[in-house]
Amino acid sequence: LSFSSCNLPEKLLHNIQTLGYDMPTPIQMQGIAAALTGKSLLASADTGSGKTASFLVPVVSRCATFRHGNLSKSKKPLAMVLTPTRELCIQVEEQAKLLGKGLPFKTALVIGGDAMPRQLYRIQQGVELIVGTPGRLIDLLAKHDIELDDIMTLVLDEVDCMLQKGFRDQVMQIFRALSQPQVLMYSATMSQEVEKMASSMAKDLIFVSI
Ligand code: AMP
Repeated sequence: LSFSSCNLPEKLLHNIQTLGYDMPTPIQMQGIAAALTGKSLLASADTGSGKTASFLVPVVSRCATFRHGNLSKSKKPLAMVLTPTRELCIQVEEQAKLLGKGLPFKTALVIGGDAMPRQLYRIQQGVELIVGTPGRLIDLLAKHDIELDDIMTLVLDEVDCMLQKGFRDQVMQIFRALSQPQVLMYSATMSQEVEKMASSMAKDLIFVSI
């Protein structure tokens, strides 16, 4: 399997090439094809495996395709990535911007230590992707009316770490505010708690391990 056989938008393929990704990594080979079908998945993958692009490539592709085929002026967010730390959020958003260059694909960060009014304003101006930490997102959603009903994909990165940090209830609260999105879950380690959370969010879960 190659990136060019995945039926991705031309500009996205170009951006992947520009990043120097010649061949998909194993997690990308399995994850991208599965995620493009719209199904939910739970993947065991660690940092360094290429997991970030394995969820961002399908997210960028699905968002760009949706906007392209949708004539409505509404620019409600289409995807959301939750990670356990602000540093990881910043890295994910950076890679998302590079992959989404030249496409209808704007991003917003929702993390602590940064002015909330500015984050909110950016979302209100219209973005495709929100990348945030669970705590900060809950704060934002509690205080402001953000329309989340167009979100089609929720990515939970480093699920094991989010559970360790006690984010379980916040993640579930955010999930319940969405309209049955596809859920892409990544965890370095698997446990009953991780699997239980995953199966509570998605019925037809695909398991991916590398
Ligand atoms: P990650 O596991 O997402 O933290 O990615 C680890 C590193 O691998 C990052 O620096 C990515 O830019 C890089 N990377 C991701 N996918 C590929 C690929 N298909 N080919 C080469 N490098 C990649």
